[in-house]
Amino acid sequence: MASLSNGHDPNPDPASIKIKFTQLFINGQFVESVSGKTFETIDPRTGDVIARIAQGNNDDVDVAVQAARHAFDSGPWPRMSGSERGRILMKWADLIEQHVEELAAIDAMDAGKLYQWCKMEIPSVVNILRYYAGAADKIHGEVLKMSGNFQAYTLLEPIGVVGHIIPWNFPSTMFFIKVSPSLAAGCTMVVKPAEQTPLSALFYAHLAKLAGIPDGVLNVVPGFGPVAGAAISSHMDIDKVSFTGSTQTGRVVMQAAAKSNLKQVSLELGGKSPLIIFDDADVDKAAELALIGILFNKGEVCAAGSRVFVQEGIYEEFEKKLVEKAKAWVVGDPFDPQAQQGPQVDKRQFEKILSYIEQGKREGATLLTGGKVAGNKGYYIEPTVFTNVKEDMVIAQDEIFGPVMALMKFKTIEEAIKSANNTKYGLAAGIVTKNIDIANTVSRTIRAGIIWINCYFAFENDVPFGGYKMSGFGKDFGLEALHKYLQVKSVITPIYNSPWL
Ligand code: NAD
Repeated sequence: MASLSNGHDPNPDPASIKIKFTQLFINGQFVESVSGKTFETIDPRTGDVIARIAQGNNDDVDVAVQAARHAFDSGPWPRMSGSERGRILMKWADLIEQHVEELAAIDAMDAGKLYQWCKMEIPSVVNILRYYAGAADKIHGEVLKMSGNFQAYTLLEPIGVVGHIIPWNFPSTMFFIKVSPSLAAGCTMVVKPAEQTPLSALFYAHLAKLAGIPDGVLNVVPGFGPVAGAAISSHMDIDKVSFTGSTQTGRVVMQAAAKSNLKQVSLELGGKSPLIIFDDADVDKAAELALIGILFNKGEVCAAGSRVFVQEGIYEEFEKKLVEKAKAWVVGDPFDPQAQQGPQVDKRQFEKILSYIEQGKREGATLLTGGKVAGNKGYYIEPTVFTNVKEDMVIAQDEIFGPVMALMKFKTIEEAIKSANNTKYGLAAGIVTKNIDIANTVSRTIRAGIIWINCYFAFENDVPFGGYKMSGFGKDFGLEALHKYLQVKSVITPIYNSPWL
């Protein structure tokens, strides 16, 4: 574990962080839950309670949906011009920018994320919001020539009331990649943050009100997945559910949508992404990239490069460098500027990762480094690398969502492609090579929604991100995400002398 006194500029003292918003945000007001129940949000650095949060259930989701429905059916938000919606969203972005350090500290404490990283993440979510604010007045259909005496035009209309169910690994980014395009489209919504990390979403709701987002447009209902989340996915008056989380829960959400009102569904789900490193790679840089691919955000990243395939010519040297770097990686308090990896989000996730590590050992994989708990309190786990991993082992197939890498060796490009595609997931993939033919061949044959060549985790507001196969469907980012929250209406008219009038 890193020590807290390291000579760097001090980060904020977590004990000084005040939690201001703990109630549900419905129809522009902070309110208690109908049941009066609350739940604890926990600091994963210690296991201590940060705050008690109002616990939403079916009744609260109902009240929030009624507010969102009223705001959609008769409120100003879907009716105002796109430029006016964009202006209000820009104002919200400005207000968030005034609270970067406070919001960064809240996410760091709630999710165990590095404070220094969160300080960069909050400005990047402000940019996401500004990107969609700028798109709000650029939503238009087409004019279409029809055969005979007719023409058509299409209208792009907001889909209605949206339910957003979001995970805990990037509480702020996940909130804004869902909320921003749907607000820009003119939708109203109920957002359920993950029960592990409800704090920043409530802060954003407070700032939304100050920015002038009308009451009822954005409602935030924290609560547990099988209760508040299920109430959203099965609600008869929600028009679309946008879910990000595990593949297992995505299936339940889709079933609930089908069994209720056949609401539209988009699913951003799990991954077991391959990083393929060829013989011509710079071994040192490739080892660094592979390490970041699995250890960034303590491995709690849907697109983590959790299966690393290395060509046999450089395998031994790569393995040696990777292990050296993994041993030097600093696990520690996320408020310590020297720490590179904080605690897993909660006890359940921590225990789940440790049980996968035990499973890897039992299955006969070789533990090269790590595999143990780090420190003596909180939910820290050492960077862990397994080798001699067989493709059918559970640690090569299941999404572990922690700092655990499965390292494998390959001979030929064909073998690498076959192995990389040997997964039910298809979220992302990475390729390291200087050979353009190899890069082109592999990027076209891997079944995944995003391919990084000689880089990893490069994101941009304009670049769509989302899965193939059981990693889901419906893209985040880019104008593709805006269109998830719009529906097309075709209007047809005779060009002259209507035969029916
Ligand atoms: P999870 O599926 O357990 O929970 C995600 C959200 O769903 C939470 O808000 C939770 O409360 C809610 N939920 C749980 N049960 C529900 C139910 N029965 N009905 C409705 N909602 C329910 O996932 P998690 O463990 O919290 O998050 C990690 C998972 O999310 C990983 O699989 C990861 O890959 C995935 N993820 C994917 C992306 C992406 O863009 N593809 C991004 C981040 C996380």
